[in-house]
Amino acid sequence: MTAPTTVDEVSAGLPSGLLIDGRWERVDETFPVVDPATEKPIARVADASVAHGLRALDSIVDAAPGWAATTFRERAELLRRAFDALTARREEFARLIATEMGKPLEEARGEVDYGAEFLRWYAEEVSRPEGDYRRSPDGGSRILVSRRPIGPCLLITPWNFPLAMATRKVAAALAAGCTAILKPAPQTPLTSLRFAQLLLDAGLPAGVLNVVTTMDAPAVCGALLADGRIRKVSFTGSTAVGRLLIAQCGPQVVRPSMELGGNAPFIVDEDADLDRAVEGAMIAKMRNMGQACTAANRFLVHRRVADEFGRRLAERMRDLTVGHGLDPLSQVGPMIDGAACDKLAGLVRDAVDHGARLLTGGSPLPGPGTFFEPTVLTDVSPGSRMFADEIFGPVAGVTCFDDLDEAVAVANDTEYGLVAYLYSGNTEKALRTAERLDVGMVALNRALVSNAAAPFGGIKQSGLGREGGREGINDYLDLQYVAIDA
Ligand code: NAP
Repeated sequence: MTAPTTVDEVSAGLPSGLLIDGRWERVDETFPVVDPATEKPIARVADASVAHGLRALDSIVDAAPGWAATTFRERAELLRRAFDALTARREEFARLIATEMGKPLEEARGEVDYGAEFLRWYAEEVSRPEGDYRRSPDGGSRILVSRRPIGPCLLITPWNFPLAMATRKVAAALAAGCTAILKPAPQTPLTSLRFAQLLLDAGLPAGVLNVVTTMDAPAVCGALLADGRIRKVSFTGSTAVGRLLIAQCGPQVVRPSMELGGNAPFIVDEDADLDRAVEGAMIAKMRNMGQACTAANRFLVHRRVADEFGRRLAERMRDLTVGHGLDPLSQVGPMIDGAACDKLAGLVRDAVDHGARLLTGGSPLPGPGTFFEPTVLTDVSPGSRMFADEIFGPVAGVTCFDDLDEAVAVANDTEYGLVAYLYSGNTEKALRTAERLDVGMVALNRALVSNAAAPFGGIKQSGLGREGGREGINDYLDLQYVAIDA
């Protein structure tokens, strides 16, 4: 099949209702989905009310015992069929992501590959369930430990990786034997809707996954969490919303998994390979136009190499081509909306007011489309707002340090603890330094940590729990222990 190339072709034939109990349900209230590169609407999707949300909940509760009773093999085979289908439709999904979210096509293809990996990974993991048989120390009993699905889940995803954030949660939940409601971000719901249809086509029974799109997430999700039948919420998004959801989990003792914001330091020591560090900086900063929780947010560079690093980074950023995600020449797409551009312009102004020097960029580009120039600043004061807030855009701020102890202290001086990047020419020193960084993940002389086989997640106010790896399925399972007199 030829992949669609124009925006109209990309959005043609998309499901637009709510997915409840295996059927697409039309709803009178709808909201538009906008292509951020043109600021034009590309589709309208259903705007669910609390009543729709509660019906979706009834349906996943009814489907829960049947799905929990499926064999591990049945779940594995369904996930594997979904992996094969998604991989075969890579180009179609990539074009949809590039259109509704804005990232360049090549990156969108990377997201499809990464997102599909979670289906394959959990298809493999589910076939190897863990259990345990022990003798009590006094010899008086046997201890049998097994795992069971935690129950109906609420999965809430952000707009920046519309496919991968959904597959990372859905694949783990389904593998564990849980039913779920997926609530995608209103900016990018189309990818989730098409992914849900792909799962139905792969044989997912009705009611095992429902998709609820809404412009009133606080009311709909609040009602679901207050109901008492949701046993787990898995959320990826901002720390501010994560805090609210954790509080809403309290009354019904719902288990929260939280993948929240980041403020990643990118440390370049004096003995680092600078070619590699600049290459890594381009990836760690510019993946998804900087709109990633893992994006390098603070460049901390040894004073001896800081000028050269800043100059080379600015040259590379200046050379980038900005354009619509579907344009094959585009390397940098739009920001998700105009407010994101305004925020970036404010962060740049604040850094300059605090003494930073602008090496390239610094401003929004004229519309249509919410584009921002790739930007590099040096001599950024650690007191600037861009070192405290998530930048979430193509803006790199560099500051220098004199020894690694100082760099580690600055790196850890944040409430976030998701990921850190460290470039060093000395492996032992780098490993010792990694151990002192208060983060859930460290990338050593490389710029990517995302991997379906690895436990992704943060500490401090970057989150609770892990997604991916052997660990990811545990968040969806409860332990049960049976005591045996023997
Ligand atoms: P966001 O504003 O927190 O929204 C995330 C999701 O939560 C959206 O679907 C949103 O829907 C929903 N939401 C908002 N308020 C809610 C409420 N009271 N109850 C239930 N749901 C609610 O974040 P975003 O702007 O979409 O995404 C960017 C953030 O995500 C950044 O902070 C980034 O670091 C973080 N992120 C983290 C990871 C990770 O793995 N750690 C990965 C990607 C992104 P509405 O928009 O309708 O409110």
